[in-house]
Amino acid sequence: MTQVVLKPDTAQLQAMKKHYQPQLIPNKNPYAAFTAKVGAVTITAYSSGKVMFQGGGAEKEAGRWQSVSPTASNSKSIKKTTTSKGKSAAVDTAKLPAGFAGWSVAGSDEVGNGSYFGPLVVCAVYAAKEKLPALQKLGVKDSKMLTDVQIRQMAPAIMELVPYRKLVVTPEKYNAVQPRYNAVHMKAVLHNQALYLLLQEIAPEKPDGILVDQFTSPANYRNYLKDESHKVTEPMYFVTKGEQYHLAVAAASILCRASFLEELEKESAEAGLTLPSGAGAKSDQVAARLIQKGGLELLGNYAKLHFANTQKALKIAGK
Ligand code: MN
Repeated sequence: MTQVVLKPDTAQLQAMKKHYQPQLIPNKNPYAAFTAKVGAVTITAYSSGKVMFQGGGAEKEAGRWQSVSPTASNSKSIKKTTTSKGKSAAVDTAKLPAGFAGWSVAGSDEVGNGSYFGPLVVCAVYAAKEKLPALQKLGVKDSKMLTDVQIRQMAPAIMELVPYRKLVVTPEKYNAVQPRYNAVHMKAVLHNQALYLLLQEIAPEKPDGILVDQFTSPANYRNYLKDESHKVTEPMYFVTKGEQYHLAVAAASILCRASFLEELEKESAEAGLTLPSGAGAKSDQVAARLIQKGGLELLGNYAKLHFANTQKALKIAGK
């Protein structure tokens, strides 16, 4: 179970209390100032001033109250715990130099890797330090903490404001490449390519740093690039939850998600079915209908076939 702890200031705590007023639930804990339930998320404010968000969607709900601030000291108040593993892991800021959030950074992120239907999208954004206040004003933050509607509204404004490069791998292309490149290899090549094109575009200007939202170890990442003719190397940083450490990665995540949604919508229109995001049972059902209509050949235009969903869909379709 995901849990996020925030330590808001007094004004923000008041705002939270007001916001959650309609969803308050009783809590006998003497240290709880108030408790609310929003969907699967339980929000408890303690008399210590800490507010805990627990349950599925906790990050998104907590995200309403968080922002990536270039001036803030790296969100020290945010601590994420994965209780299922029984380990608590404070957000790791040790990997990045002090003041990194205020640097001019080229950042990259991807979306669609975990979704059966739809493309894999990788974006790189260059956020020069002069652009950071404007990005912040737009409300740029981790795309997982924004609604799809907010994301689609924000994306055009980001594209106006900062240089970016976007690579969209359609399911068809993905299926053609996937037997030779595993998903991590593919992502490494795409991040590198998006960053390379972006750096070419902004040259002779150079970023103070390059931040990749980490999906594999830096050693693995470099190893996967050994056959690439253009390698983006220094000054490179890798950090998980990169969106929290620089607005360049946060903006990249928003552009990726907006593009993913747009593609999924296009594919849905073409397929004549609403293709769901994610990789759950709904995806199996929709895939089974596509198989009945046109076999794996048709399905392969819309879905990443190596996912386990394909076998489940074949069973449902009776094939
Ligand atoms: Mn990411």
